[in-house]
Amino acid sequence: MERISWDQYFMAQSHLLALRSTCTRLMVGATIVRDKRIIAGGYNGSVSGSVHCNDEGCYVIDGHCVRTVHAEANALLQCAKFGVPTDNADIYVTHYPCLQCCKQLIQSGIKTVYYAEDYRNHPYAIELFQEAGVETKKVELNYLAVDTKYKEKSAYVQHLLEKLELNTNEQELSVLKKQAKQLFTPYSQSK
Ligand SMILES: [Zn+2]
Ligand SMILES: [Zn+2]
Repeated sequence: MERISWDQYFMAQSHLLALRSTCTRLMVGATIVRDKRIIAGGYNGSVSGSVHCNDEGCYVIDGHCVRTVHAEANALLQCAKFGVPTDNADIYVTHYPCLQCCKQLIQSGIKTVYYAEDYRNHPYAIELFQEAGVETKKVELNYLAVDTKYKEKSAYVQHLLEKLELNTNEQELSVLKKQAKQLFTPYSQSK
């Protein structure tokens, strides 16, 4: 049995949080971690009790949806609300933080920003992180831990491929097999 790494575990948590996002433009999740423990989480969504982008549409000004509080900010605000220190904590975010979040993360004492995807990485944000000594590390999520039907799906595709073998030309079949292999090889084994 292969244990999930801490990085993958926290990043998976952020991806799960992103599924709760109410903004249709981009779904972001963030998890704040201290001493290998999750202390807060957030996703981008409207102010509590207000209308959601996925119901009423985004409120766009200058190309940005202004309705939402960003995932990173929501996670930090959860700490503020419940009096949890964020100094020297780390954050796992699904996307590279925007300039506003970058400043808030620095100011909250966050030491390392792990992000899964580059997203319009602002040169000034990069500069500010460097200046503040905040490390940014890309950690792509590639652990298949969340799919509880993974084994059944893998077996099913295998079964379909076997059926296809009867009347598919070899070249086509080898492409299909390769694609299936890529989809169904757990990260821990593919590396
Ligand atoms: Zn929106
Ligand atoms: Zn942001």
